[in-house]
Amino acid sequence: MDSQKPYTYRLSGGRYTVSISNRARVEEAIAAFCRDTGIRSASVCGIGAVDEAVLRFYDPATKRYVDRCFEEQMEIAALTGNVSEMEGKAYLHLHATLGRRDYTAVAGHLLSARINGAGEIFITPFGAATPRRYDPETGLNIYDFR
Ligand code: FE
Repeated sequence: MDSQKPYTYRLSGGRYTVSISNRARVEEAIAAFCRDTGIRSASVCGIGAVDEAVLRFYDPATKRYVDRCFEEQMEIAALTGNVSEMEGKAYLHLHATLGRRDYTAVAGHLLSARINGAGEIFITPFGAATPRRYDPETGLNIYDFR
């Protein structure tokens, strides 16, 4: 395996266990893994620790995203999401709950985060494609199963 990659992985029972390298970015490592393995459709979950994360909140009233950066050590108490396809490219949709030193948590759509410690990610590919399209009514890129 290429040691320059931001992850290592093992395939077992049709599921991938992915270890994100320390100091690598979560979204970049998962995107690279999906690119390298050709995965375009999967569920994602994981745990680990980060020292910087950008969370996003979508306001349906304004159809605007509000992004906020947290620069502190946090546990990835839960990372959940999926991989789908939009306009022929892999599309990651990740949410996270991050635990702080005082045991409170912040949560939201995970735009970006840097591992500081471990990043243990579990990826289960689906057999069928999961395409997305932009939906003007909600302002979101939603599943397109028409
Ligand atoms: Fe989201």
